[in-house]
Amino acid sequence: MSATIIDGKKIASNFYNKLKEKISKLECEEIPVLAVISVGDDPASKVYVKTKQKRAQEIGIGCEIIELADTIGENALLEIIDELNDNHHINGIIVQLPLPKHIDQLKILSRINPSKDVDGFTPYNTGLLSYNDKKGFISATPKGILHLLQSTGIELSGKHAAVIGRSNIVGKPMAMLLLNQDCSVTITHSKSQNIEDIVKTADIIVVACGQAKMIKSSWVKDGATIIDVGINRTEDGLCGDVDFDDVKEKASFITPVPGGVGPMTVAMLLDNTYTAFCRQQNDGECLCHHKNCKCH
Ligand code: NDP
Repeated sequence: MSATIIDGKKIASNFYNKLKEKISKLECEEIPVLAVISVGDDPASKVYVKTKQKRAQEIGIGCEIIELADTIGENALLEIIDELNDNHHINGIIVQLPLPKHIDQLKILSRINPSKDVDGFTPYNTGLLSYNDKKGFISATPKGILHLLQSTGIELSGKHAAVIGRSNIVGKPMAMLLLNQDCSVTITHSKSQNIEDIVKTADIIVVACGQAKMIKSSWVKDGATIIDVGINRTEDGLCGDVDFDDVKEKASFITPVPGGVGPMTVAMLLDNTYTAFCRQQNDGECLCHHKNCKCH
């Protein structure tokens, strides 16, 4: 029997409607505001940033884009982050990745006040995730994937989940999130041996490796749930890391590309921005240990 398609577009749309309603009911004069730092002229990054701004504005979140030349130095970028950290009108700060090679990504991300780190990329928030502490911000793509998995109603506890890819923005936080849901997790990557044999034993497969249609039906156990994070531009158009037409006959649930994980990512980012705003307005517990922080 053919798999049930997990409709990320519809799930994200419902999520936006609920978030928009919550924002419209905020009883304060300020609105949540997200600052997006965009360095350089990468066309794909520009499209992602514009999408974030458009979605934010549609639901009542302000979005300020700070566009910077790719020649900017590390210190100048750190100063901009310091200003945004101190600016009470800014509730969330993200740095669009990748950054130019001469800039130390970890140094830049680490400078963001953890209370405004709505991408969840600071070492502080990734640390909270590994402690399964709900106060931290979880990065948007893994958080969206967890929503998609929960939308299927399948039990996660005790299942074997295989995560293909170990990047800091998808694979690693995804594996930690699944571990926090009591899955037994295997992480595989480009140096893993016998990936196919490992993946074949998994009940849940999350693929984020950027290899067009790598996962075939022969890799998949009957009835597995498959989340395809990959976005690959090929001569035949956009496709994921899973050979969708081949695999859909074997899986029980599967996400399409496009229309699966992608729409959830921005929705989760904006949800984190709303949460950051509420915590900052309510004098909630601040994650920040920055000297002179005024976000309490
Ligand atoms: P990265 O390039 O940072 O990481 C890719 C990971 O996949 C690495 O860990 C790499 O291993 C592993 N890998 C590469 N080739 C293979 C292989 N043949 N077998 C097993 N593992 C392999 O990518 P991202 O994590 O940033 O993104 C992954 C994909 O997800 C991309 O297609 C990207 O466009 C997409 N994406 C989609 C998002 C969405 O919202 N839908 C959001 C973010 C990403 P190693 O570490 O050994 O190099």
